[in-house]
Parts: sequence; C-alpha cells; structure tokens
Amino acid sequence: MKRKTESGVLIIVSAPSGCGKSTVVHRLMEQREKLRFSVSATTRAPRAGETEGVDYYFVSREEFEKMVRDGAFLEHAEYVGNCYGTPRAPVEKQLSDGYDVYLDIDVQGAMQVKALRPETLMIFLMPPSMEELERRLTRRGTNSPEEIRDRLRAAERECALREQFDFVVVNDEVDRAVDEISSIIDARKKQQSSNQKNL
Ligand code: ADP
Ligand code: 5GP
Repeated sequence: MKRKTESGVLIIVSAPSGCGKSTVVHRLMEQREKLRFSVSATTRAPRAGETEGVDYYFVSREEFEKMVRDGAFLEHAEYVGNCYGTPRAPVEKQLSDGYDVYLDIDVQGAMQVKALRPETLMIFLMPPSMEELERRLTRRGTNSPEEIRDRLRAAERECALREQFDFVVVNDEVDRAVDEISSIIDARKKQQSSNQKNL
C-alpha cells in the first residue's frame, strides 16, 4: 500500500514592518529545501526591486474585494491603509504535497489563521528595540517619514500581542535568528510527524 505523504507544517512569522522578516525568510528558503513561501495579494504599490508573483500579487482594490467575495483567501487584513490576503488554494495544495509553507503576514491575519488551523506554528520576530526598528526602516529607504511614523505606531501595537505566539525570536543578528527559527521548525516537524504516525 502506498503511504500517504505526511502533510507539511504551516508556519507564520509575524513581525513589525522593517524588523527584517524578508531578509530572514530569504535566508531560510536558501537553507530549507521543503519550505515554500506563500505569495500574498496586496493593494499596495510595488517597491523598487519587488516582482509580481514572487514578492506579492499586486492587485487593485476591486480585484481584492472580488477575491474576498469569492472566498479565495485563507485570511485577509488591512494594514496601514492597504489590503493584504493569503490565497487559500496554493497553501492547501503545498501542505498536502508535504511542503512546509511560510506565511509572512501581520498579527491580525495570524490570529485568523490560528483560529482556523490551531496546529499552525506561530513565531513572532521582534526588533532588538524600537530605536533599531526606526533605523532599519529609515536605512531601507522605501517608506516616507509619515509612513515610517505609521509603521512604528503599528509596531508598538503588534509587539504588545507577541504573547499570543508560540515563540518570540529577536532579530538581533540575521544568522542567529535564522538558526533559531530553523531549530523551532525542526522540532515542530518531528512532533507533527510522530503525531501523524500515531493516528
Ligand atoms: P521586513 O521584511 O520585516 O519589512 P526587511 O527584511 O526589508 O524587513 O529589513 C528592513 C531593513 O533592515 C533592511 O535594510 C535589512 O537589510 C535590515 N535588516 C534586517 N535584519 C537585520 C539585522 N538582523 N540587523 C541589521 N539590519 C537588518
Ligand atoms: P509590507 O507592505 O511591508 O510588505 O507589509 C506590511 C505588513 O503586511 C507586514 O506586517 C506583512 O507581514 C503583512 N502582510 C503581508 N502579506 C500579508 C497577508 O497576506 N495577510 C496579512 N494579514 N498580512 C500580510
């Protein structure tokens, strides 16, 4: 009898904008063959260097609202004036094909997914301090001073909710944070695999 493929782990890494999530995820994807990044849809404009279908699906507000009505999203939320959502079908397909799927989504979206799929591995990535977060946002150079101010306000609200996550990882050094997240994923995969074998 053919053994059913073990389903992958659904992983959420939430962090305030500018904390270093994209940097961390790129490094993780290089290291973990079975990890797939879930590409979200957003109504925000592309930043320099971002590619359609790789970083995001860039859609109009009308297209986004139609996707909501069609039930195409696993979760969706508004963040600092723009809409973001996780397309449901690719996540479900990749998990059932045995891939681990990484969602880079905000805290509101993370809570929606946790309610739907309580087995989701929830990681909160913290900046070492708010001053360092401001420096990273400024150094990245992709947001205006007003946008940076709004993102710092959102960051304070988000950091206050970190207790809702299974793990809190501080992004002080990229390599160290990536190693810590990778060890957390390995431990969860071991646990999930032994649970699936015992079913
Ligand atoms: P996010 O995806 O969370 O919005 P980015 O990955 O774009 O954040 O990182 C924001 C800025 O901070 C970038 O310029 C990035 O190079 C820098 N950065 C990321 N992680 C670190 C770190 N551990 N130490 C110093 N700078 C970092
Ligand atoms: P940015 O505009 O900096 O790429 O992202 C802003 C915020 O939106 C980040 O916290 C990011 O994690 C979040 N985000 C990106 N995609 C999604 C998504 O599909 N759903 C939700 N809820 N948040 C998302």
